[in-house]
Amino acid sequence: MAVVEAAMRAILAAVEASATVTDEQLSMLNFLFEKNLERALRILDQGGVQRVTSEPSHRTVFQVTGESKGAAPCYLCFPDHYCSCQSFYFDVVAKSEQIYCKHQLAAKLANALHMCKEVTMSDEELAYLLLEC
Ligand SMILES: [Zn+2]
Repeated sequence: MAVVEAAMRAILAAVEASATVTDEQLSMLNFLFEKNLERALRILDQGGVQRVTSEPSHRTVFQVTGESKGAAPCYLCFPDHYCSCQSFYFDVVAKSEQIYCKHQLAAKLANALHMCKEVTMSDEELAYLLLEC
């Protein structure tokens, strides 16, 4: 898993530097993440990633749109560590079959490609947002 994380960091750094994704980078991401990459790209295409920054602390959290039927409309997501979706719980934490869920991948890619919708709120509002999940 550490190798996958290192590869992902290197790919994202290159993507962020050029603000674009090459076919070769997409192939590598597809090799690493398979169906979750396809799902993450669909979320990106739909503009489904929002970065919430709170003031004055500058803390950030991502809200990522869900695409599964009957799922929550969006999930709170810390791209490296946590997502509030069921796939994160089952596939990433319980079974260790995936290193990231599709929402984490979408947040990482949107961040690198500067494709996040930006929202600013107070630290108090962010605290309430985190309490809701
Ligand atoms: Zn998720």
